Amino acid sequence: MITYRAAWVLPIAGPPIPGGTVSVERDLIAAVDAAPRTPGGDVEDLGPVAILPGLVNAHTHLELSWMRGQVAPSTSMPAWAASLIALRVGVSPDPPEPIVSAIAEARASGTCLVGDITNTFATYDPLVDSELSAVLFRELLGFAAPDPEAMIAAVTAQIADLTPIAWLRPSLVPHAPYSVSPALLGAIARCSAGKPLSIHIGESAQELEFLRDGTGEWRTLLERLGVWNAAWTPPACGPVEYLDRLGMVNRELLAVHGVHFTDAELARLAAAGATVVACPRSNRWTGAGAPPIDRFYASGVRVAIGTDSLASVEDLNLFAEMAEVRRLAPEVPAARILESATLAGAEALGFASELGSLEPGKRAQLLAVRLPADVTDVEQYLVSGIDPGDIRWLDT
Ligand SMILES: [Zn+2]
Repeated sequence: MITYRAAWVLPIAGPPIPGGTVSVERDLIAAVDAAPRTPGGDVEDLGPVAILPGLVNAHTHLELSWMRGQVAPSTSMPAWAASLIALRVGVSPDPPEPIVSAIAEARASGTCLVGDITNTFATYDPLVDSELSAVLFRELLGFAAPDPEAMIAAVTAQIADLTPIAWLRPSLVPHAPYSVSPALLGAIARCSAGKPLSIHIGESAQELEFLRDGTGEWRTLLERLGVWNAAWTPPACGPVEYLDRLGMVNRELLAVHGVHFTDAELARLAAAGATVVACPRSNRWTGAGAPPIDRFYASGVRVAIGTDSLASVEDLNLFAEMAEVRRLAPEVPAARILESATLAGAEALGFASELGSLEPGKRAQLLAVRLPADVTDVEQYLVSGIDPGDIRWLDT
């Protein structure tokens, strides 16, 4: 057993402990205390650092990492998506080296678990060789999909071919309501019942228009790509109502983005035990707008945080994403933002019994963040943006 003592210990499951200790035995947390339980034992005093659990990035697309800096920011999300599609069409498969670098970058900036969207499983082998845990969301698209069951059977076979790894958990998910037909959405929801299910939802104003009356820039893009479905009837409702009709509003749902959610929609998600995943830096880059972070928290819904892909964000540093959350919602307590970037993400991804907080029995994925001498509020400091150079993983 080794015991680490630090200026601050942040269990997340409870308030910060000044001068606290974390004891570790065989890679598991044995105790979190205000003072070492075994004085005179193997205690390492780390001095002016904060110990906290590894962070959870609840929404990434690691396989798009090669697009870093290549899809310019836009004021229209459909226009931004069209640029991304045009860039990706000439590149298959997604090259592995940028995936490996992105995983290393995420790890170096304090991330232990990701909810990662993939269209190809190009990320699987790099994740096997990494220290990250992951839910791999195998994403399907198909607005004019003639045979949803056949698509699902093909992907289910693909998943069955993967070498099973305890900390890498594949599940099947849809992309978004404007890119997946109602029949395919329903089939995915049935197939993924009981597993975390992520969907891009409530992201752009154009999505609301599309669902309301079937017009606008998303429809134009589908027509231009030759995947419009003339038989489709718009549901004439908001995005959360639409998901509810398809049986997708439940505890397993990760509603990614939610930039345009109303208070009533947030209340509905909160009542169902669903999670909203905020990715504010990506929302600005793609032209989706600024998410209503303060209303997310006021609604009582579980809020997790994601960076999104390197096609729409500068880096995979979740501390930088927390700083943007803080900037957009200065009234939200720092403790809640830290919980979003740790325990809430672990709960949403089904990893809360192992990760997300410092509690006995959980995996000892421990971060030590260097603190300047003048820090008076450690939680505020940690959500103000931390440089990876000030972060290290503790040996367990
Ligand atoms: Zn995304």
